Amino acid sequence: ATPTSIMVGTGKGAENGILIKSAESLELAYQIQTIVLDKTGTITQGKPTVTDFITVRGTANQNELNLLRLAGSVERNSEHPLAEAVVQYTQSQQVILTDVRSFEAFAGSGVQGNVLNNLVQIGTQRWFKELGIDTNNLQQDWNRLESLAKTVVGIAVDGQIEGILGIADAVKPSSISAIRNLQRMGLEVVMLTGDNYRTAEAIASLVGIRKIIAEVRPSQKAAQIETIQKEGKIVAMVGDGINDAPALASADVGIAIGTGTDVAIAASDLTLISGDLQSIVTAIQLSRATISNIR
Ligand code: ADP
Ligand code: MG
Repeated sequence: ATPTSIMVGTGKGAENGILIKSAESLELAYQIQTIVLDKTGTITQGKPTVTDFITVRGTANQNELNLLRLAGSVERNSEHPLAEAVVQYTQSQQVILTDVRSFEAFAGSGVQGNVLNNLVQIGTQRWFKELGIDTNNLQQDWNRLESLAKTVVGIAVDGQIEGILGIADAVKPSSISAIRNLQRMGLEVVMLTGDNYRTAEAIASLVGIRKIIAEVRPSQKAAQIETIQKEGKIVAMVGDGINDAPALASADVGIAIGTGTDVAIAASDLTLISGDLQSIVTAIQLSRATISNIR
């Protein structure tokens, strides 16, 4: 591409809410065959809210509030968006949080800490299985909430499951039509997420995605992109989180959500300022126009 056509393309991108960092990505975008979308904050709004709180004994309110106090106190030490949702929920219930010792975060699994001499662990079902924590008491509710597209985290105290929190994160209304348009252009659309398979599947069916790669550890997201590239595909990755940065950098075209983290934006070739996935369609059209003007 000539410098002039690239300049024109970059300017048109800016007019359409797309920041184009590398000329190369503008030349490559029309060749994308597979587009991998992060779930949380990319397909969804990334504003998780606690909608359900279910405890094992389901008895006195006092117990439930105490459990919330333990959970909120630990989550206050975490920077994860889910943690923020949990802390907000405890505040809405007028729970007063307390100090935590030995806080630890396990990427892709959950968090733990010592609160009032209790070991409190909050996280995924898979992590609880690894820890040998029996989830049977709440298994039905856990599965039911996940089928409703909610992310569910368990709360264990001293190695016993005590409760679960259902956390909802609505799909961006524009995601549905944008994904359909990308598929109509002949692209294969894939969802990539650290969240559990059942929740991922429920969100995927809302937006018409058929291929899901779920329960992927943050350290493994880039490897998933490389696997698709090894099949001979030109791959774009779209994401917003710190977790997504290595995958964004590995992809042939890395696309960041403008409302996402600075780390994701820095690792990307293109940034969608408003976070609307329809801008990807625009970027591909712009790429095609830029290339055909040159030839
Ligand atoms: P994502 O791809 O959605 O950003 P992560 O890899 O960050 O996912 O996390 C995967 C899963 O690990 C989350 O869906 C959640 O169940 C669990 N998890 C991570 N951090 C926390 C936390 N602070 N509190 C509770 N659960 C957590
Ligand atoms: Mg995300």
